[in-house]
This record gives sequence, structure tokens and C-alpha cells, in this order.
Amino acid sequence: MTDCIFCNIANKKIPAKLLYEDELVVAFDDLHPQAPIHKLIIPKQHIATINAIEPTQEVIIGRLFTVARQIASELNIADDGYRVVMNCNQHGGQAVYHIHLHLLGGKQLSWPPGCE
Ligand code: AMP
Ligand code: ZN
Repeated sequence: MTDCIFCNIANKKIPAKLLYEDELVVAFDDLHPQAPIHKLIIPKQHIATINAIEPTQEVIIGRLFTVARQIASELNIADDGYRVVMNCNQHGGQAVYHIHLHLLGGKQLSWPPGCE
């Protein structure tokens, strides 16, 4: 088992209720939701931070967004709107070093997010 928690969710070494899975990505509920809807979409491949994304991985990165869009639609928040966020490194507030797209919605979100 790798020590990366999101690799272990993606490869099913740690049980998690997956909302979505395909050959490139999986999606699941955030453990500590910050909004009524808070999902995470992650690549199956380990990519530590945005800074480590290679041009050859552009299809994977695009898939994170098309899956976010699909989940938003299925959860009926697409028209009201939602936010997708990916934090990078310490100043960005990244806690888990396997990239993940946060999908947040289900209420009016404040802006700007945590810039104080
Ligand atoms: P970030 O600060 O952008 O790295 O976000 C990490 C997110 O992962 C946080 O919102 C956590 O609540 C979430 N998280 C951490 N561990 C788990 C887990 N085992 N299952 C689901 N979400 C998790
Ligand atoms: Zn990983």
C-alpha cells in the first residue's frame, strides 16, 4: 500500500463510496464538507501538485472538469452554480498531496475565498 491516501482510495485499498469512476478519475464525498455539496474528483494516477502536471496529462486534467460538470448536473446544482477549486502547495492551502478538484455547491458561496 502506498502512503498516499488518495491513491489508496483510487485503488480501493481504503474503502470509500465512489460517486463516479472511469479509467482516469474517481469522485467521492469530502470527509469534512465545507458546503451542502462538497465532492472531490481525483486522477487515478498520482500527481502531487498542480506544479507536477505534465502536458501528457492534459486529458486527465480535462476529465476532472467534465466529471465535475456531470456530477453538478446530476445533483441539480448546475443552473444555480457551483465552484471548482484546486489548491496548490502551502500558500494555496493544499493538505493532501495528490491533486483533487473540489466541487462545492448547494448554497451561495462567498467570494473571495479565504484571501484575508
Ligand atoms: P486540500 O486542502 O485542497 O488538500 O483538500 C484536502 C481535502 O481532502 C479536505 O477537504 C479534506 O476534508 C479531504 N479529505 C482528507 N482525507 C479524506 C478522506 N479520507 N476522504 C475524503 N476526503 C478527505
Ligand atoms: Zn496519490
